[in-house]
Amino acid sequence: MPRGTYERTPLDARFLSKIRQPIDSGCWEWAGCKDKDGYGLLWYTPTQNNIRATWVSFWLVNKRWPSGMLCHTCDNPGCVNPNHLFEGNAKINWDDMVRKGRGRYKGENNGKCCFPTEIVAMIITEYESLPRTQSGRIARPGRQKIMEKYGISSTHLYRLVKY
Ligand SMILES: [Zn+2]
Repeated sequence: MPRGTYERTPLDARFLSKIRQPIDSGCWEWAGCKDKDGYGLLWYTPTQNNIRATWVSFWLVNKRWPSGMLCHTCDNPGCVNPNHLFEGNAKINWDDMVRKGRGRYKGENNGKCCFPTEIVAMIITEYESLPRTQSGRIARPGRQKIMEKYGISSTHLYRLVKY
């Protein structure tokens, strides 16, 4: 579809047109594009190509963007029902996770969007300050330390720092 078509259609109308009939669980399954973790995506602005449909759902109800993470009560990443979404307080969740000793976020639903930007920035800053090998790569012990500290997999770390 040409870009102009999107621009003339308000965000809420585009959002609503991509929702499937609610299923038994009450989930609103996203019928549009999804990222590889199963989160719905919506074209947003020319500079910020896609935005998570869950964020649009939150915005339409609350008239503001989530301040940190947006979590599902239903554990269904494809669900965009605003009643199934809640704003996680990044710091509390983080402390809680570390205290419970959970190694990492549940499953693979831990793309960049799930991390509050401050934490992504912290990870990137720390990563960039790590000692490098002669070939210019970040040495493995340093990477390992970040992965353990933030409870993320090497794939996830790679995804964060490559963005
Ligand atoms: Zn749901």
